Amino acid sequence: MLNIVLFGPPGAGKGTQAAKLVDKYNLVHLSTGDIFRENIKGKTELGILAKSYMDDGNLVPDEVTIKMLESEVDKNSSAKGFIFDGFPRTTNQSEALEVFLEGKNTSISVMLALDVSEQELIKRLLLRGKHSGRADDANEEVISNRISVYNKQTAVVADFYTNQNKFEKIDGIGSVEEIFDRLSNAINNHNVTV
Ligand code: ADP
Repeated sequence: MLNIVLFGPPGAGKGTQAAKLVDKYNLVHLSTGDIFRENIKGKTELGILAKSYMDDGNLVPDEVTIKMLESEVDKNSSAKGFIFDGFPRTTNQSEALEVFLEGKNTSISVMLALDVSEQELIKRLLLRGKHSGRADDANEEVISNRISVYNKQTAVVADFYTNQNKFEKIDGIGSVEEIFDRLSNAINNHNVTV
């Protein structure tokens, strides 16, 4: 299996690149943010809970997020691999994912981390907020909280994969195609079975 963690701060371009990687490598895309937003739209119990955290730019509690992610993986038992987008976002989540995948005799192949400056992130998120209809993109205070949550709680997740020699930093500035080529090269050059 090819299991990719697509990593990077809010606005780094994970969603755009994930869609292209899914096509090229025939993977299942699991975006925790998208799944939460679908639940919010459907007014499910999970959606109502998630919304109270997301609107302020805070993380949804680990227990809820991990359970949801595992059930999404289980729904796709015939998948050739996954792109995890927006997960794991805490060390707890990385550990839970490792144990969970081990139980399925598989593991994360590589973490691809999109590197984008904070100034560029804020610019991109505010621009996206004009069209995306996402409340968390429209408000500069919420954006800056999301970046600060990323720096405080999520950035350390990179260490978890660095320690396993699975971390690849990718320059996230350039055209969509240029960045996609960098990601594809990293996958092809990393020691993974496609
Ligand atoms: P972005 O990467 O632009 O912040 P996402 O769509 O990935 O957007 O996430 C939106 C929000 O969903 C986050 O701010 C957080 O509240 C929630 N969320 C997404 N993934 C997770 C996760 N793995 N753990 C906790 N909360 C999450």
